[in-house]
Amino acid sequence: MPLKSSILVFATNNLHKLEEIRKITTDSIQIVSLKDCGFNSDIEETKDSLEGNAKLKAETVFMATGHPCFADDTGLFVNALDGAPGIYSARFAGENAKDQDNVQLLLKKLEGEADRSAHFKTVISLVTEKENYLFSGEIHGTITEQPIGENGFGYDPVFIPEGFDQTFAQLDSSIKNKISHRAKATAALIEFINQLK
Ligand code: IMP
Repeated sequence: MPLKSSILVFATNNLHKLEEIRKITTDSIQIVSLKDCGFNSDIEETKDSLEGNAKLKAETVFMATGHPCFADDTGLFVNALDGAPGIYSARFAGENAKDQDNVQLLLKKLEGEADRSAHFKTVISLVTEKENYLFSGEIHGTITEQPIGENGFGYDPVFIPEGFDQTFAQLDSSIKNKISHRAKATAALIEFINQLK
């Protein structure tokens, strides 16, 4: 059994993500945020892969709090941009870039580009008393020419998942939470935890 308690720290203070993940996990596991467990330091993402950064965050929080912890790292990989913004998705338009700045820069770089294919990838690292584990999920789709929709966060207004004709920001959150990169990675995480209980 990898978990001594049913409390699991999610190494994030992003309320959108916390809400999303709470909706797709059972009530038997109580997911708490960094703030909930009194962890207030910033963790710099210094690694050159989603895996490295997710593991770095989960290990740092586990060491500091003593609670099993998982951390995710996500990137949007755009084919016409050779995989950019990738691991730099959060800081695409600069260190303190807002979602809107990142989206605008992406649209600018894709102006006149016919190939608008892209995918999101999420990697989750789980660090427990005994081991480190990695889980991942991807969703493929296309980038729109303009932001559309009000839901979600990040690049949601410009990403249309394959098989749909609306952006993540137009689709109901219940749909996104079933098909998204994070949903797939989280499903793998939860299945793993439940199997070992
Ligand atoms: P992070 O690793 O989760 O912090 O995400 C890196 C970047 O990808 C940030 O700019 C996020 O806003 C963006 N991002 C992460 N998940 C999603 C998503 O589900 N939809 C849209 N953008 C996302």
